[in-house]
This record gives sequence, structure tokens and C-alpha cells, in this order.
Amino acid sequence: MTSYVIKPPPPVVLPIRNTNKMFPVHRVYCIGRNYAAHAVEMGHDPTKEPPFFFQKNPSNLDTSGSFPYPSQSKDVHYEAEIAVLLKAGGTNISIKAAIATIFGYALCLDMTRRDLQADQKALGRPWEIGKAFEKSAPIGPIHTVEEVGHLSTGEISLKVNGERRQAGDLNQMIWKIPEIISYLSKYFELAGGDVILTGTPSGVGAVRRTDKLEVTAAGLGTLVVNVI
Ligand code: MN
Repeated sequence: MTSYVIKPPPPVVLPIRNTNKMFPVHRVYCIGRNYAAHAVEMGHDPTKEPPFFFQKNPSNLDTSGSFPYPSQSKDVHYEAEIAVLLKAGGTNISIKAAIATIFGYALCLDMTRRDLQADQKALGRPWEIGKAFEKSAPIGPIHTVEEVGHLSTGEISLKVNGERRQAGDLNQMIWKIPEIISYLSKYFELAGGDVILTGTPSGVGAVRRTDKLEVTAAGLGTLVVNVI
């Protein structure tokens, strides 16, 4: 029997709707600027250039429904996204084969310390302190492919305190979900348990303590997150 010098961290697991089973998380990948209108609002040309990625930590995923306003920032933004959960992985996965690696989908938020991210961008430095902080990825229950099929179209939106702030359609993704999986698999060995955040439509903005965030997308219900 293995003995540990310190207590091992608990596994990161996500609930699956309508079951008692849990989804064990391996890695979390996030694509940047994947909706043209959001690329424009962030000051970039939305023409199709190679995608780029950053990572969050598995333990940044949070299913509590509460988002504690993080330290060291005065400009924390919401980004409503669809998360793709993989059941299989590998390297050099073709676009055609990519769809078979998908286990399900969930609503999520890519919470961002925008001021810190902007500082890091200006200095040409990595984004972790802007993106990969504690509880920075609120996520809802997983909807399996058996339940909802594959998502390529349908509205995604976000309300703040009942007021609509973000709206887009999954068909506006510059890089489609199978293309994202295929591209990532050229650079990383993907695995079952991987979670991929697929980008946000336009309308990102700042949150305040006591705000109620509601993310919806066709077939995935509503993710409600209270900023505390
Ligand atoms: Mn994002």
C-alpha cells in the first residue's frame, strides 16, 4: 500500500445530470477569442487565425453556485461559455474522429481578473494570474451526449440580475468544437476527463458582489451563480 508524505488532494469530480455517477477531471483547456464579435470587443481582428489556448487548474472548477470575488483585482469579468467534457483522448485526432471523444456538455463561466490579464498581455507574460485563480470556473451539471446530442448551434446567453448582457449562437464559434479537439490534440495528449472551455460571445463585463449571473444555452438548462 502506498503511503503519502502529505494528504493527497481530493480528486476533482463533476456531477452528471440524472445520475449518481461523477465525471473525474483530468485537465482544463480554454480557447481564447472564439466568437468574432468578442474578438472585436477585445480589440482584435476576428479573421480566422490559428486558435490559441490557456489552461485553468482542474480544482478551479466549482459547482457550488457561488463565486467569491477574488483578491487583487478591481475588474473581474464574466464570460459565459460551453464546456466540452471528453471521455477519450489521444494525439493527432482528426476533425472527423473528434466528435466520438465527447462525453457531454455543461454550462460554465470563465471568470477573469481582466485588469491583471490586461497587465500580463501588455507585458507579453502568461495569463495565469488573470485566469487560473480559485473558483474561476463555475460549472453546471454535465449533460451527456446521449441526453442532448452534439451541440453546434443554438443560443448561448448570460443575464446579470435579470438583465441580458451576453447573447450569441454556438454556430458563431470561429473554431468549431471538433476542430478545437483536433487542434489541441496536435500539441497535447488529450485524455478522458479533459474539459475544454469553448470561448465566449460578445458582451463581457464586470461583476460586483451580490450580482446574480445566469447562463443559458439551448438544451443545457440554466447555470445560476451568485457573486459573493
Ligand atoms: Mn473565455
